Amino acid sequence: MTPKTFSTEELTSLKTKMKLWASELGFSMIGIADTELSQAETRLIQWLADGRHGDMHYMAKHGDRRTKPAAIQPGTVRVVSVRMDYLPDSAAPPTTILQDSTKGYVSRYALGRDYHRLIRRRLQKLADLMSEAVGPFRYRAFVDSGPVMEKPLAVKAGLGWLGKHTNLIDKDSGSFFFLGELYTDLPLPLDKEQTDHCGDCSRCMTACPTGAIDKAYQLDARRCIAYLTIELKGSIPEAIRPLIGNRIFGCDDCQLVCPWIRFSKSVSTPDFQPRHSLDNATLASLFSWSESEFNTRLEGSPIRRIGYQRWLRNIAVALGNSSRTTEVLVVLEGKKAVASPMVREHIEWAIARLNDRAAEVD
Ligand code: SF4
Repeated sequence: MTPKTFSTEELTSLKTKMKLWASELGFSMIGIADTELSQAETRLIQWLADGRHGDMHYMAKHGDRRTKPAAIQPGTVRVVSVRMDYLPDSAAPPTTILQDSTKGYVSRYALGRDYHRLIRRRLQKLADLMSEAVGPFRYRAFVDSGPVMEKPLAVKAGLGWLGKHTNLIDKDSGSFFFLGELYTDLPLPLDKEQTDHCGDCSRCMTACPTGAIDKAYQLDARRCIAYLTIELKGSIPEAIRPLIGNRIFGCDDCQLVCPWIRFSKSVSTPDFQPRHSLDNATLASLFSWSESEFNTRLEGSPIRRIGYQRWLRNIAVALGNSSRTTEVLVVLEGKKAVASPMVREHIEWAIARLNDRAAEVD
């Protein structure tokens, strides 16, 4: 398809309409970036060379396709970046759960339904509206679904700045949001980047339970609880297990301590509200789920993709960090029969840790 030529006025008018449509579709913000990502590419190459991506080999596998948008969608000259706030307004307060070692802490983004389909559907509607307005054009939608530098692109599109914790922050809305992208061959007018407002603050670096943010703006995924409880398929390193506390799927600590989250806007979006009391459930009750309960209850949840065994692995670690009660020992023992060898080792570690700590107190 030969790209149609548009005047500056037509493209400016389209961009104005896109902002309106994005808002009607429930996006909190939309911005346009070009595809020049050389700075982000340099940082990515160094991060990979340092091995800080852990087992996420797919990060290296895509080569420069990640930093050259036209390599995965030919003709791309702009990236439309969208943001959707997700902090659920009905969830139990995160600090209350983090301070209660009998409860399991699930990252705020994973309490409800998987966001990918919801955002993809809305991105598609946005592309349809654009097509109706200007005729056919080339595009491809991404929602955490391909080798896309989503955060650097969002920064370029003016959606926020990358904080020292490496998450995107907007000074009017905090950092709890999902991102999506539309790669397009339409040379839309660009947005301006926001300035960095981290200043002298380093709260997120100090607060990280495992010291994963060991340098400002750099994350060692191998120590990050989100990586250890979601991406890592194998055994969680023993030295890190006590530091994980009761975080069973992801971690929000670096965002929770950030001064900018006071501007977060919680949302009533039904899909993002907690399901099956995931915001306030006891570790023992979650650990008691059978595999079929796990599969049924977490249908349509981002948690389901880690599978039952990794779910048990994560909760076993958290139970090992809780208090030794008869109920906890019974549920741990009770799962040995269905646990894989890797998970069984985590259960034994948890029981031994509970016994050791009880012996220290006696
Ligand atoms: S806690 Fe401080 S340093 Fe970290 S991202 Fe927020 S403002 Fe930046």
